[in-house]
Amino acid sequence: MRLQGKVAVITGGARGLGLAMATLFASEGARVLACDLGESASSPDNVEFYKLDVTDSDACKKFSEYAIEKYKKIDILVNNAGITKDGMTRKMTDEMWDAVIAVNLKGVFNLTRFIGPHMEDSGGGSIINISSVVGEYGNIGQINYAASKAGVIGMAKTWAKEFARKGVPVRANAIAPGYILTDILKTVPQELLDKFAASTMLGRLGQPDEIAKAALFLASDDASYVTGTVLSVNGGMRL
Ligand code: NDP
Repeated sequence: MRLQGKVAVITGGARGLGLAMATLFASEGARVLACDLGESASSPDNVEFYKLDVTDSDACKKFSEYAIEKYKKIDILVNNAGITKDGMTRKMTDEMWDAVIAVNLKGVFNLTRFIGPHMEDSGGGSIINISSVVGEYGNIGQINYAASKAGVIGMAKTWAKEFARKGVPVRANAIAPGYILTDILKTVPQELLDKFAASTMLGRLGQPDEIAKAALFLASDDASYVTGTVLSVNGGMRL
């Protein structure tokens, strides 16, 4: 029960990696608020689902106030909600660029601008930004996504400095997953997925619970001296 007594907020928590983290965190004793645009197909114990669009700054403020009022504190924030709208740079429209930046980058700012200072004022916390192997190394056809995922690494490093500057143990880190089998990959052709799998040292794609376990480590006191880092969980891609 590594998160006993902790309160965790996870965005994009109704599906994919977010749901895997919500389920694991709750099984480790946390009370979890999983925010998402839509409903979840499953309803794990100790997980409250909350309808939230992370691009809506006012709604994020309202949600943060609701969460702090109801649960009295937030110990863990996982900025996980993310989308892709892929295209080569020469063909990328303003709409594709803006949509990805709004969710993947501004959405991360929108919640953390309220919850980060709350952690600083209430004595500590762990912020985890979900980046990507694409944020670390770039990828053809994903300039918007690469910009957003590199951006959340910079944000984690900045918050590691900013929220801990008064000696309060607020930690901020990023996880950079490789290719993990969730719906976000459903538009990627199988031959490309096979290529990605072959480019890892382990010869396969990842499973959502393998990212959830990395997030559990960063969220828990096991990572009490880990801040400002990027944890790459990608099966040894690009070694
Ligand atoms: P999924 O598409 O399975 O899940 C993403 C979730 O985020 C969905 O439930 C989606 O809701 C939600 N979401 C989208 N937009 C918003 C919004 N504006 N406000 C709130 N919630 C929103 O993706 P994954 O679980 O695979 O991805 C999770 C994170 O991990 C993302 O940031 C992604 O970029 C990152 N990542 C994933 C990798 C992978 O291979 N799977 C690799 C590297 C990084 P809805 O379904 O209703 O649109």
